[in-house]
Amino acid sequence: MGEFCFEEDRGPLIDPDALCDGCGVRGTVSRARRLGEHNEELELHRFCASCWAEEGARLQARWKEQDRVAHEAWIFDGAPRPPSLGATFGSATWHLYLELVERLVPAIRRGEVDDAYLTQLAQEMQQSAAWRVGRMPIRVLAFIQQYGAAHDVVGRRGH
Ligand SMILES: [Zn+2]
Repeated sequence: MGEFCFEEDRGPLIDPDALCDGCGVRGTVSRARRLGEHNEELELHRFCASCWAEEGARLQARWKEQDRVAHEAWIFDGAPRPPSLGATFGSATWHLYLELVERLVPAIRRGEVDDAYLTQLAQEMQQSAAWRVGRMPIRVLAFIQQYGAAHDVVGRRGH
């Protein structure tokens, strides 16, 4: 099966003229792409900030399920081997960072996450605030406040 990746380059995510696939409003800030075996684009869906959390999750679930069903039909029913399809998900909103913070919290509590990684991540989040769409979620803000501070101290010492 192909890979499901997160898209981080903000350029292609924002399209002020595109219509949201979810609600039809003009101006989109996120997109989900279905990719073929040679990374060719099979589907492109663009969404506004309000629709992204729901629609991005829906497409991720749908494509994962399609891959699973096709794979099992090949294994069990003698269907032709399915192509190895991939997907990318990207948003200029805070949703992907919010999900990441929520996923990391249990591992952080167990002491399994390297401090340097957390500091780097907090720094990336903070830098992206200049162009992200919408208010920074409180959990992301708390994460930056907790782990971004160490970097500032190091940075000041360096100069
Ligand atoms: Zn929408």
